[in-house]
Amino acid sequence: MSSTINTSLTPFAQKIAAPLVKNKITVLQVNLGRKCNLACTHCHVEASPKRTEELAPEVCQQLIAIIDRFPQIKTVDLTGGAPEMNYGFRPIVEAARRNGKEVIVRSNLTIFFVPGYEDLPEYFASNQLRVTASLPCYLESNVDQQRGAGVYNDSIRAIQRLNQLGYGEDPNLVLDLVYNPPLPTDDNFALTADQQKLELDYKTYLQAHFKLKFNNLFTITNIPIGRTRQFLQRREIHGSYLEFLANNYNAATLDRVMCRNELSIDYLGNVYDCDFNQMENINAIAPGGEKLTISRLLELNNLDIIQEIKTANYCYGCTAGTGSSCGGALV
Ligand code: SF4
Ligand code: SF4
Repeated sequence: MSSTINTSLTPFAQKIAAPLVKNKITVLQVNLGRKCNLACTHCHVEASPKRTEELAPEVCQQLIAIIDRFPQIKTVDLTGGAPEMNYGFRPIVEAARRNGKEVIVRSNLTIFFVPGYEDLPEYFASNQLRVTASLPCYLESNVDQQRGAGVYNDSIRAIQRLNQLGYGEDPNLVLDLVYNPPLPTDDNFALTADQQKLELDYKTYLQAHFKLKFNNLFTITNIPIGRTRQFLQRREIHGSYLEFLANNYNAATLDRVMCRNELSIDYLGNVYDCDFNQMENINAIAPGGEKLTISRLLELNNLDIIQEIKTANYCYGCTAGTGSSCGGALV
C-alpha cells in the first residue's frame, strides 16, 4: 500500500497555524565536517571514513570570533561526522570554554580507539565537555546491526573510560546517551519509546552488566532525510512514514523544537535553522536575499536576524508524539 509519492499528506507549513519564528539565539551548533570513522545505516549526514569535507581555517576563525563576541551564546554544540576528526575541533572547544560556555560534543565513542585519538577521554574531561553519545540500544545485536560490527563493545569500553574519569558522577562531567529506534522495514510504524522508562531500562541493564553510569537518555525520532530517506524509499515506505508522523503531530512541541533558538553552521560557514535543514541545503537567508553566512553575521554584528524558520515535511519528525530534538523528547 505504501508509496514514495504521497498526495494525501498535509504540508507541514499548512499544518502549523502560523509560521515558526525564531527566539533569541542561545545555541551555536557547528557541523565540523562529514568525515567519520563509522558509516551507520541511519546517518542523516551520510558520513563515512571516505568523506573529505571539513571546516576551512577561515571559517574556524569566524566561529571563534562569534564565540568571543556574543555572550548570548550559552552553548556550543559540536557535531559532524565525528567532530573530533575535524580541523577546528580543539580550537573551537578551547575558545568556547575560555568564554565560559557549555560545550557539547556529539561523539560516537568508538573514535577513542582510532589511532591518534586515544587521548580524547582525558581531553573531554579536562575541558569539562558535555558528552552526548549515540547508543541506539543497550543490547549488542541491535547496536552492531545499525552501526557496524564491534561498535557495541567499543562503546561500552569507551563509557568505562569516561566513568573512570568521573563522567556520570561528577556534576561537571555529564554523559548523555542517545537512543534512536531501528529503521522500519514495513509500514508497521511506532513512535519512539517513552524516554523516562527507557532511560531506566538502560541504566538498569548497563549497571548490572558493565557497572556503567550515565546521566540522561535522549530518545530521538528517525528524521526521513539522508540515508534514512534512501532506506525508506528503497522499501517504498517513505510516504507512509511521513504520513504516520503527520498523524501523530503534536502542536505542543512547537515551542521547544531546537530550531527556535539555534543557528546551525556548516563547514563552509553557511547558516541554517537546524542540522536537518543543513543536510537538505535549505539555507537561512540574509536581509539582502542572499544565503546567510557567519561572516555576514559578524558584519551585521547581530545573531538575531532570522525571522521565520524554514520548515519542510520532515519537520513532522521533530513534532510527532512527545517530539524529538538533539536533547531528546520535547514535551
Ligand atoms: S557515528 Fe554518527 S556521524 Fe558517524 S556515521 Fe554514525 S551516525 Fe553518522
Ligand atoms: S527539522 Fe525540526 S529543528 Fe529543523 S526546522 Fe524542522 S522542526 Fe525545526
